[in-house]
Amino acid sequence: MSSPAPRTAGQDHLWSVDEHLADILATVRPLEPIELQLLDAQGCVLVEDVTVRVSLPPFDNSSMDGYAVRVADIAGASEEYPAALTVIGDVAAGQDGLLHVGPGQAARIMTGAPLPPGAETVVPVEWTDGGLGGGPVTGMRARSADPEGAHGQVRVHRPAPARAHVRAQGSDVQAGDLALAEGTLLGPPQIALLAAIGRGTVRVRPRPRVVVMSTGSELVQPDQKLAHGQIYDSNSFALTAAARDAGAIAYRVGAVADDAETLRSAIEDQLVRADLVVTTGGVSVGAYDVVKEALAHVADEDEPGAGVDFRKLAMQPGKPQGFGTVGPDHTPLLALPGNPVSSYVSFELFVRPAIRALMGVPDIHRPTTRAVLTADKALTSPAGRRQFLRGSYTDGRVTPVGGAGSHLIAALAHADALIVVPEDKESVEPGTEVEVVLLG
Ligand code: AMP
Ligand code: MG
Repeated sequence: MSSPAPRTAGQDHLWSVDEHLADILATVRPLEPIELQLLDAQGCVLVEDVTVRVSLPPFDNSSMDGYAVRVADIAGASEEYPAALTVIGDVAAGQDGLLHVGPGQAARIMTGAPLPPGAETVVPVEWTDGGLGGGPVTGMRARSADPEGAHGQVRVHRPAPARAHVRAQGSDVQAGDLALAEGTLLGPPQIALLAAIGRGTVRVRPRPRVVVMSTGSELVQPDQKLAHGQIYDSNSFALTAAARDAGAIAYRVGAVADDAETLRSAIEDQLVRADLVVTTGGVSVGAYDVVKEALAHVADEDEPGAGVDFRKLAMQPGKPQGFGTVGPDHTPLLALPGNPVSSYVSFELFVRPAIRALMGVPDIHRPTTRAVLTADKALTSPAGRRQFLRGSYTDGRVTPVGGAGSHLIAALAHADALIVVPEDKESVEPGTEVEVVLLG
């Protein structure tokens, strides 16, 4: 990857995709760690080594519903000659050692219940008559949890070695062990472990707060009536969803009209809750492309270091892009083009990695793979620009979905991959290998 060109690069400089991304990643720093409740930390990166405070399991316990007994009492047991033991009571999960199992005795034990003192092993209920073999009560359900009283007899018809069906204390993890190392991404299984060892909160990098703002006086909210010339604002929905998908807390701001002053104050209003601002539209060279004007204004105010640079990228779609920082906290801002496919592809290439970098995730990129192009004709791509076509990927093959038009939202909705045609390729024949970004 080449080093980024300076922010002051001339208007004519055509930025490569890699240069633009490198510039963004050089600016975006991981957020400061905070202590979060376990469920709020889902998807976040741990910034502490978590050691085990309580061994797992915390005590020896039964892995089966059955009977806790002494090994010698069932040593010769068989179907023909079962061992008859006196049932002295129940041990349920959560119950504390009230029973002591002596010679000739058995305690009915439930899965997860602590092995009572005196007992050496557990025989599953399937190896017994379930306590039906006579005595004052019949059937497991009929028994009350009376730990003191005798409960009749159980016949055991198989022997068991010591500690059979016993989950030993610390057999999962031991107190003092490293449970999870700093840098671990917390998914459901990691959250399970943290809860199991008694951690209610953890220190992580928080989810970035991403404000998504669309611009355009033609934009109408879904569910409202469209007048001629108006369209529904889809970008702010797409990008808010994409930001959430990337791990952010995303705020969608309703479409802002093409008026520099309105946009400028809307952005300023949002900065209080933004770790990253994403705008769409208004970055090309049309007469009403007000984002440049508005952001230049924000940038100039009291903050000589900050500023948003508008540039042309050697890519398709997504040629016009803006990047910089705004406001007193130098909040990073990415100004994406307005065409729906352009804005989505730009998000995938630049905003998603930025969000992942803010989260401190080790691997910020979507997985890529190589696939054989399946198509009826060659793909064409403009010289000198990296093209990203929508595709559908299965089993090492990729098929283009829809054309290159950056307004084709329906095709985008049926794609799950981006086909990458490098800058130096103007056509790709069916049957050849291409690079593919998997969108998950
Ligand atoms: P712009 O870059 O603002 O000139 O927009 C380029 C094209 O994308 C125009 O056809 C816009 O109407 C369309 N567009 C811009 N913003 C949105 C949006 N939020 N949702 C859907 N289409 C949009
Ligand atoms: Mg516009």
